[in-house]
Amino acid sequence: MEGQASLDVQKIREDFPIFSRAPRGKPLVYLDSAATSQKPRQVIEAVKRFYEEYNSNVHRGIYSISIEATEAYEEARRRIARFINARSHREIVFVRGTTEALNLVAYAWALRKLKKDDKILLTEMEHHSNIVPWQLIAREKGLKLEYIPIRGDGTLDTSGLDSYHDFRIFSFVYSSNVLGTINDVKQLVRFAHSRGALAVIDAAQAVPHMKIDVQELDCDFLAFSGHKMLGPTGIGVLYAKRELLEEMEPFMGGGEMIREVHLHESRWNDVPWKFEAGTPNIAGAIGLKAAVDYLEGIGMDNVRMHEISLTRYATELLMEIPGMRIYGPLNPEKRSGLLAFTLGDIHAHDLATFLDEEGICVRAGHHCAMPIHTRLGVPATTRASFYVYNTHEDIERLAEALKKAAQVFKIV
Ligand code: PLP
Repeated sequence: MEGQASLDVQKIREDFPIFSRAPRGKPLVYLDSAATSQKPRQVIEAVKRFYEEYNSNVHRGIYSISIEATEAYEEARRRIARFINARSHREIVFVRGTTEALNLVAYAWALRKLKKDDKILLTEMEHHSNIVPWQLIAREKGLKLEYIPIRGDGTLDTSGLDSYHDFRIFSFVYSSNVLGTINDVKQLVRFAHSRGALAVIDAAQAVPHMKIDVQELDCDFLAFSGHKMLGPTGIGVLYAKRELLEEMEPFMGGGEMIREVHLHESRWNDVPWKFEAGTPNIAGAIGLKAAVDYLEGIGMDNVRMHEISLTRYATELLMEIPGMRIYGPLNPEKRSGLLAFTLGDIHAHDLATFLDEEGICVRAGHHCAMPIHTRLGVPATTRASFYVYNTHEDIERLAEALKKAAQVFKIV
């Protein structure tokens, strides 16, 4: 894919109120969208309109504004289903985010379906939210975890795939939040299915940045978070094939997820509602729909091309800085729009603090992916991540500030 985007970034930036701020007396350069994205006025307005005009609970009221809220909430579900090309809105479960979605699969599917010594396959490039839930249930049930290693260049080492057998579920990241690596997820799904296992995709860093078609991928589950794709915090999605949702027992019990409750037994609501116990994040779902509308207004191919262009430029400029080491594949077409790096022996936190003084927001630390850092042999990295509102000038400001840091910290 060529890195030339037809995207009017200046116009986009006007939609984001936060860019009128200058917390350090300098125009804000926000390079931490992989942690959470900024929100356009359209999303903020949709949430505000809900609270100001039809705030009420969903699925239970029989008065007009509650019907309006229910329609908006369910319309959001249909909109998101179309966005990822699910067969139906019945395959979309609203959750808090990727973490909750993956926990739902671990607890509601794996914990109940697997038996002692069954294997779960993961990769070494997972975020903690795709490791720890599996460890929790493995400990409880006596399951075994296996990991596909990563190569030195930050790509997944699929050369030994043939040696993995007898696992029941394979859960893997679409695009790494540290290395940027975009995995060949279609191949990984096919591999899981060829072994009779289910394929779970952590798409937290993919759905916000590229066109995703769950039918084409043929994955069984796919998880993502609204707040990383211009939407509100506290709302996310678990996509699941409907037959799996039908055969799964609920994750949480409570109001709304039931059809009938008696003192000693209950019957569940239809899918996906049987997985949405209690009052959901109504405003969040409505805001997420507005975010999806916004992203599709830009066009997901344009989003991706813009990020390739920014990543290419950032890689070129950063590589000129003495002591710079970027982790993951250097080809911007093979990675998502983020760069994790070290600069000489400057600690990532010192570097991020230095950049903050220049008005530049980056993430520093292990980015909830300690095993990747152990594999890379570094305790922490600094990460710059890009989105639709970032400009080439932002990248220049980052590169200038890093050059300055290299001088101040005396990196040769
Ligand atoms: N998976 C990946 C690859 C991520 O980057 C993140 C968040 O950074 C998560 C999962 C967890 O997402 P959330 O904190 O929104 O649940």
